[in-house]
Amino acid sequence: MHPARRPQLGQHFLRDPRLRRRIAESLDLLPDDLVVEIGPGHGEMTELLAQRAPQVTALEIDAHLAELLQEEFGGRSGIEILQADILATDLGSLCRRHGRAQCFVFGNLPYYITSPILHHLFSFASCIRAMALLMQREVAERVVAQPGSRAYGYLSVLAQLHAQPRITLEVPPGAFSPPPQVDSALVDFRMVPRFVSWTTGEIRAFLDFVKRCFAQKRRNLRNNLAGIYARNGLEQALMREQVLPNARAEQLTLEQFGRLFRRLHVRCC
Ligand code: SAM
Repeated sequence: MHPARRPQLGQHFLRDPRLRRRIAESLDLLPDDLVVEIGPGHGEMTELLAQRAPQVTALEIDAHLAELLQEEFGGRSGIEILQADILATDLGSLCRRHGRAQCFVFGNLPYYITSPILHHLFSFASCIRAMALLMQREVAERVVAQPGSRAYGYLSVLAQLHAQPRITLEVPPGAFSPPPQVDSALVDFRMVPRFVSWTTGEIRAFLDFVKRCFAQKRRNLRNNLAGIYARNGLEQALMREQVLPNARAEQLTLEQFGRLFRRLHVRCC
């Protein structure tokens, strides 16, 4: 029997075995992959993942669920259950412990922390070969959005700085127990790093810059940045990048953000 659900932990379990299989079969796994599963819940996806990869490490924050998973899978070679918070997990050392440079990340995410999880995972981007994450459809649309669309924003730039994300499956609320109040979508992330010569510090500063550019979506870019950069420098940088003075952040491509950031922060270009 399943234990009481803890809704505060985003516990919406995939209840349809056919859908679970379809998701597992859609994953772009390689024969030697270490799979890190976020939030295994009752372990149904863990089982399917273990049939397709030699090593699965499943991180479950709920102590009671982790204990049940341990009873079910403990001692099975190729499956490791850790009672752990994904947001406090160092993916680099997890990979090293398993003798891998990189891992594949899968998760039917706890939706209350989708954004923090994405931030955390991307901070370990070099340790991730690919990912497939089930999330709210509205967030998935922001992740894959292109410049000029309403959904395009900070999360799109963050995701596309590290990966080529695409929605591979839409999942209705009824596929979960209990059903969430929102539609869901599976997003596949092929990791493709951009701005590879930048240091970690530069990437961090760049993301802060992009966040500021989108600070108030209804204001134009110049107004959003006005308090931060001297007016002359800002206007010159925008002009050199051929960005119209009244342009909004949502019109800029990732490359334009990158070049604008370099112009404002690194005096060489
Ligand atoms: N994988 C299962 C499934 O598909 O049916 C459960 C998915 S459920 C949406 C999210 C799972 O993440 C729950 O088991 C929840 O306890 C777990 N969880 C919530 N916050 C977490 C965190 N910070 N770190 C690891 N697991 C977490």
